[in-house]
This record gives sequence, C-alpha cells and structure tokens, in this order.
Amino acid sequence: MYSTVKTATIFGIDSKIISVEADISEGMPMFDMVGYLSSEVKEARERVRAALKNEGYTLPIKRITVNLSPASIRKTGAGFDLPIAVAILSAIGIINCESLANICLCGEIALDGKIQPVNGVLSMVIEAKKNNLDIVIVPQDNLLEARLVPDIVTIGVKQLKDVIELLNQGDFHMEEIPQANFREVVKEESYDFSMINGQQALRRACEVAVSGMHNLLMVGPPGAGKSMISKCIPSILPPMDSEEQMELSKIYSVSGKFDERMGLIKNRPFRSPHHTVSPQGLVGGGQVPKPGEISLAHGGVLFLDELTEFSKSTLEILRQPLEDKKVNISRATGSFTFPADFMLVAAMNPCSCGYYPDLNRCHCTRLSIQRYLNKISQPLLDRIDICSEAPTLNFGMLNRKQDNESSANIRERVVKAHEIQRNRYKGYGFRFNSQLPSNLIEKFCPLSAEDLEYMEEMYDKYSLTARTYHKTLKVARTIADLDGSENIGRIHLQEAILYRGLDKKYWEEA
Ligand SMILES: [Zn+2]
Repeated sequence: MYSTVKTATIFGIDSKIISVEADISEGMPMFDMVGYLSSEVKEARERVRAALKNEGYTLPIKRITVNLSPASIRKTGAGFDLPIAVAILSAIGIINCESLANICLCGEIALDGKIQPVNGVLSMVIEAKKNNLDIVIVPQDNLLEARLVPDIVTIGVKQLKDVIELLNQGDFHMEEIPQANFREVVKEESYDFSMINGQQALRRACEVAVSGMHNLLMVGPPGAGKSMISKCIPSILPPMDSEEQMELSKIYSVSGKFDERMGLIKNRPFRSPHHTVSPQGLVGGGQVPKPGEISLAHGGVLFLDELTEFSKSTLEILRQPLEDKKVNISRATGSFTFPADFMLVAAMNPCSCGYYPDLNRCHCTRLSIQRYLNKISQPLLDRIDICSEAPTLNFGMLNRKQDNESSANIRERVVKAHEIQRNRYKGYGFRFNSQLPSNLIEKFCPLSAEDLEYMEEMYDKYSLTARTYHKTLKVARTIADLDGSENIGRIHLQEAILYRGLDKKYWEEA
C-alpha cells in the first residue's frame, strides 16, 4: 500500500515542489519519517498521529514509512503536516489516491484536526503553477493570499475531515471570497514635505535620491530636522509595478509579515531598524534563514538614523548587499539568496557634540572628531551616492510663514523620472539609474568632449575612484531625467559633484 502527494517547501523566498510518499507494509509496527527533515518537520509525526485519532481514524498496526523527496533539499516548516496525513490516509485507502495527481497541499494540523495557516503560501502557489499542478489546497486562513496568484484553482480548508471529503468527492471549484474579508485601506502618510520649513538643499537631495533610488547620507547638527525629513520620504515614493509588488509580497509572506487582507503590497517599504539591531536582524539569517531588514526594505527605503551609533560590524555587513542588491546566506543546509535592492537613507551628526564645523559651538578635539567620523568606513562612504548637509535653522527660517511645496507635487516629478527610466531600461533587467551596471554607463550616460574634460578635472580634484566616478554619473543621469533632458549637461554634472563633495568636507578636512 503506497501513495504519494505533492507539497512545497520554502527555499529562500522561493519554493520547491516536494513529493511526500507513504508506504504501509507488514512488519514491526512503527512510524518512520525520512528525507532530510528539520526538527519541525519531524514533529509532524506526533501531530498527524494525534489529529488522525481525534478525527476518528486509527493508524493500522503496521510499518508506516513516510519519505519526503528529493532528499537533497532540507525540509523546514510545519506545512508538511497536511500532505503527510493525506499520503497516509490515501495509502490505507481512506482517500481516493487517483484524485491526488495534480494537487499540491500544505498546512499545519492542530491536534484536534484543525488546519492552521503557514508562512510562504504565495511562493508555494506560484511554484505549483509553474510545475503545471492544477489545484492547490491551503489552510482557509491563507486562502486570500493564495488567490493573489491568478489562473490556478486554490481551495481553503479548515478541518482535516473537510480535506478527506473534498478529495473523495473530487469537486474542486473555487468558492467566492466574501468582500468583507478584504480591507480597503488607503494608506495616508502622516509626514509631508509641506511641514518642513527651510532646508531647501536637503529637500532637493531627497527628491534626486528618490528619483533614481540613490543612497543618501544626511549630515547635520541635532535638531536640524534630519529624522523629520526622512519620515517625509515615503510620501514621495512612487508606486511599484505588479512585478515589484509580487516580489515584495513574497518576501513578507515567507517572513510571516504578510497581511493578506490588503492584497499584494502596493506601497514601497520604509524600514527604520533601531541602532541596536543585530547583524542577523539587519541582513537576515537564522538556522533556517529568514529575510532581514534590508530585504524587508526591498524596492523601498532602509533608514538608518544615528548612523554612527550602529556597531561597525553591523555597518560593514551592509557593503556586499549594497553592491550586489541581494544577500547570500550560506548554511550547511544550502545557500540562500534574498533580494535586497533598497535605497539607503542615513542620518548622522558630524561629531559627538553635533556642531562641527561650527567652531563656536563645537568643542570636540580634532582627534575625537576624526575618531567619530571614522566609525563610517571609506568603503561604506563610497557606496553613498548623495551626501547632503542639514544646517541648523535660524529663528527667522523656522518661523517665517512659508509656502512649502507639498509631497504630492514633488511626487509627481519623481513619478515622471521613474517612468523615463523604466522606458529607457526596458528589457535590460533593471529599473533605476542607481542600478545601472558599469558596462552600460557609457551607453546611457554619454558626455560631450568638453564635459569629459571637466570630469577629468573633477576626478583629480575630488580624488574620485572608478566607483565614485560612476556613482556621480548615475546621479547626474537622474538630475537630467528630472530636468526632462535627454543628455547629461554641465549643470547636471555640477550638482552631482556637489553631492559627492560634501563627504570630502567632513572626512578629509577633519
Ligand atoms: Zn563637536
């Protein structure tokens, strides 16, 4: 008596199809499970045994072997309970095994037979569809999430006995989901650029940064409004396309942070981890690796306030993902890749008292300023595209009645710039100027002979490197896009260099 059913396991943010085989034969009564199982999966044996008993089915007093294949993939999570139970019930003839051929099942089973939700259903259904399976049976509480994948039959189940009935009747039609299960929430951003007085240069820097998804560092004294301005950034982030929405939703789904009632995630994320975050919390990890903050910020913003308060090892670990736009985590069980294409926004004081280079107020010694700034390493600094200053506001600036431009206005220009980039890079596999690979820079950022000469001058003046030179060109590309200009002109280069120059002011003069 043998039976097999299909399920899926999470691997990074994607899934892999797994076959669950059950064999029941004569011999010493036992219940054995094999196939490179994590401890959670091994526990399925006890849950399944108890749930079957409580639903009125007793396991035969025979030798039961369950095998999960392929054996090369580590199986994790509690979603194997349901397929294991179904494989056994089918092997002992309670479930009609012919109905199982094109079905993928997942779900945890409570001891009373109730089917509990699991993480990562979105990517499991996507994988099932890719493997030409026709029907996916998921826990009822995951059904809204499963339905986000079109053109495949998805059915929600509440209780083990419902699954048995469903499989034996073979009536696989999709029931409508009542509208009441969805929440239509229009997300209102509580911070708006119209609330910011003064800080014209920083406002502009934010606009340029978001327009090309460039990394931004703000330096300034405490109270200059750096954090406040950062909180305004979500209000000018443009919407994501459907592909971006699906990818981000998958990340949140495997992290167990997905709110299925909202549908696919539509707003770009804005993550602001505290400076006490562990390296693992930031980039992801764990025995079964889970995405970290940088992946939860995929397609959006990772905001690090008080950058110098983060431990040096935490910051250094950011270097690789900032370059590769993804993070690789190696474990004995395999190598996992999580997408991490985020825009870094960081804010910091220029010295420990916060007032350098205002020598009337700053009483730090040269050495202590140096030590303070050195917490940010040169390689990390090189990965910043735009460095901007947030000067202290004087009383007049703060109180003058000003007609500050609203976020809605700025966002309109950002959306336009994003559209230009999307069209320009169609078919290249990336979306924004900041993602422009170095071998394509010459193609998309051509300079006139005079401007090339000018940049040569700047290259020496600011002791640029190949990396920082390319970053400057990419920022200039974004500024030209905001300008609606097809070519990069001198004025665009000058502004881009200005953003490069500021880190020199602090890090080299101090
Ligand atoms: Zn100081």
